[in-house]
Amino acid sequence: MTHIVHRNPHVPLPVAASGSGCTIIDSHGRRYLDASGGAAVSCLGHGHPEVRAAISAQLDALEYAHTSFFTTEAAEALAETLAARSPAGLGHSYFVSSGSEAVETSLKMARQYHVDRGEPQRHRFVSRRQSYHGNTLAALSIGGNMARRALYQPLLMESHHVSPCFPFRYREAGESDERYATRLAAELDQTIVQLGADTVAAFVAETVVGATAGTVPPVPGYFRKIREVCDRHGVLLILDEVMSGVGRTGTFHAFEQEGIVPDIVTLAKGLGSGYQPIGAVLAHRKVVDVLHQGTGAFQHGHTYVGHPVACAAALAVQRIIQRDGLVERVATLGPRFEQMLRGALGDHPHVGDIRGRGLFWSVELVADRASNQPFAPSLKLNARIKAAAERVGLLCYPGAGTVDGAVGDHVLLAPPYIVTEAELETITDLLHQAIDTAVQ
Ligand code: PMP
Repeated sequence: MTHIVHRNPHVPLPVAASGSGCTIIDSHGRRYLDASGGAAVSCLGHGHPEVRAAISAQLDALEYAHTSFFTTEAAEALAETLAARSPAGLGHSYFVSSGSEAVETSLKMARQYHVDRGEPQRHRFVSRRQSYHGNTLAALSIGGNMARRALYQPLLMESHHVSPCFPFRYREAGESDERYATRLAAELDQTIVQLGADTVAAFVAETVVGATAGTVPPVPGYFRKIREVCDRHGVLLILDEVMSGVGRTGTFHAFEQEGIVPDIVTLAKGLGSGYQPIGAVLAHRKVVDVLHQGTGAFQHGHTYVGHPVACAAALAVQRIIQRDGLVERVATLGPRFEQMLRGALGDHPHVGDIRGRGLFWSVELVADRASNQPFAPSLKLNARIKAAAERVGLLCYPGAGTVDGAVGDHVLLAPPYIVTEAELETITDLLHQAIDTAVQ
């Protein structure tokens, strides 16, 4: 009998006992190849001795200091490192304990930015229907996973959703990327105008969509057009890179591949690589200068913001990523992994799409390859794939996307950046087996 409130108490979980590199071992000694890094968290893999040592050293020195009394070397050094890895101007960090907290913080930052500029009526947010921004109520309000939101209506915040870069576009023939991106930007423009441009605080989007629809990269040119719409209306652009940031797509920030700089970016998962709970909000000087000059301070805080042990762990993660050239490694391994996936699964009768960037890929499943029709949601294919994968010793992250009435099952893969080519081959083989078992 468990005394934990589990996600699904009817499905007993194995007990994770230890881990090393890309492998997790359960209490019965069964080994699992971690092809999703949890949920795109473990970028350095498990049991990294240098991160453990950094945590231990910080604990030996000091476990905690409240940010109303102190700053710490770990937090200052981490902020400096993130500034150095970011485009000019995007140089200020606010450290929190999770992705949802980072998103909440970014929303409050955007609100206060407008209040301090004398535009308190700018309180509305626009986001996209295909999106996940976290599970706290404000993050859920702007999130576009309608099933997750349904239980909690009415949500706390007013939110407005526009069309995403559609994950199921491969099922349709036609429209060029250029026209498509122009149409989506025009929809955002109209939405902002209809709401009243002087009432909108920010537009929020995941640069590469993660969990809700399975690693959907933006259409080329999309974000440049979006940036232009936001600028025209004085609306801040917040990019949520909780899942896609910190090197996961082959550049430190995923937005670097889009030729734009956002006003605020949220980071989390890969930042602590699972060693400590940590998230960050990176804000542009344009925003921070207003916050510091307006009411004099950012009116926000949690007890554990800037936790020194979490910052020390994230700093060690950054040091290792940089020293070992792991972002560059992701950029090199990405196309190899894509090749393997396409080679093994590209012609599979139940694979409709293979998409992603860096070490952030999804395989989308269809009932019938000729029509690209999805499987019936009642089949719960994602649960079947997860179970079949676990039986062959593979951890992957299957999900079911629903956007504008269209549905689809995908399997998200986000292995640690230290994964070897041989392990990528094994991941591909085991996934093939799991898919074959699950679709039977
Ligand atoms: N934003 C994005 C894009 C995410 O993928 C997630 C987590 N899946 C979150 C926010 C929320 O992060 P957390 O679970 O750490 O609160």
